[in-house]
Amino acid sequence: MASTVAAIPSLHKAWVYKEYGAAKDVLKLEELPVPPLAPDQVLVKVHAAALNPVDFKRRLGKFKATDSDLPTVPGYDVAGVVAKVGSEVSSLKQGDEVYGDISEFALDKPKQWGSIAQYTAVEEKLLAIKPRNLSFIQAASLPLAIQTAQEGFDKAKLRAGQSVLVLGGAGGVGSLAIQLAKFVYGASLVAATTSTPKLGLVKSLGADIVIDYKEKNFEDMPERYDVVFDAVGMFWEPKGTNVVKEGGTAVVLTGPVNPPGFRFVVTSNGSNLVRLKDFLESGTVKPVIDPKGPFDFGSVVDAFCYLEGGRACGKVVISVL
Ligand code: NDP
Repeated sequence: MASTVAAIPSLHKAWVYKEYGAAKDVLKLEELPVPPLAPDQVLVKVHAAALNPVDFKRRLGKFKATDSDLPTVPGYDVAGVVAKVGSEVSSLKQGDEVYGDISEFALDKPKQWGSIAQYTAVEEKLLAIKPRNLSFIQAASLPLAIQTAQEGFDKAKLRAGQSVLVLGGAGGVGSLAIQLAKFVYGASLVAATTSTPKLGLVKSLGADIVIDYKEKNFEDMPERYDVVFDAVGMFWEPKGTNVVKEGGTAVVLTGPVNPPGFRFVVTSNGSNLVRLKDFLESGTVKPVIDPKGPFDFGSVVDAFCYLEGGRACGKVVISVL
């Protein structure tokens, strides 16, 4: 779909930090130059952006060794309209409605000028055309989280008919991992952990077994799984490994890991999103937006504080219009 594009200003509003620290101490809304455009990039007029835990972990300085230089405009996830194309761009044009995770490697020199801003410059290859049925808010909620679930299941070689346990089923990644396991990869059984108030949500996403972790330990239950997808960081506990079937594996997103588990860091590519287009456009896989949001552009500090509380239900999204 094509949108009309307004003239590009020389300055734009962006959230920026010049030193590592707590959101309320270091994040400021400022006027900055609109980011320069490389030949393989497009300039996106941002309509919506989503937060991910990597945004606050990075802002706290946890990835200093491999981070890009300060100052930093945070934000990986974007949905918006192409305002200008670089000289080598061939598949996108001005007015295209796009979405994507703007940093190819989440921890290795991620973009200095991120998506929590009115404009961001992104390589064409990292973007896809926004599914036509999704709003910008819905589209912005997906890229990093859904590609994490997809890459995790690809690396785990999840096959139709296998069983999956998702630890952290109500979070940004877990809520999409349940849907992908069940409806994209064809898992025969999906179980997921969550706390009591979110049991209904997790069930509605397609989980066959919902485990209330406040009431039961998943390790103490009799079921065994071909693939465990750990979005909480529990797989270091020796008992946790017992829930993996012989020959099975565990995808671990955070924390230490025991065999047969493995950790990986998500890679962004627009072609991953293209692979999911039909599932998204048919409504088979649905974005899950935290009901506290979408946050407005002036409330980014509040949005970060909320995400950092660790209780988000689906994705925390910012409206940038
Ligand atoms: P979220 O902040 O969205 O996760 C919040 C959710 O976690 C809440 O719904 C909460 O539910 C749930 N939760 C917390 N503790 C538990 C528990 N003990 N058992 C079950 N659920 C629990 O985070 P994301 O989903 O975006 O990311 C999850 C982790 O994965 C983060 O550490 C993130 O940094 C990492 N990550 C790593 C990636 C990689 O490439 N390696 C990529 C993406 C994310 P409740 O309130 O019910 O407890």
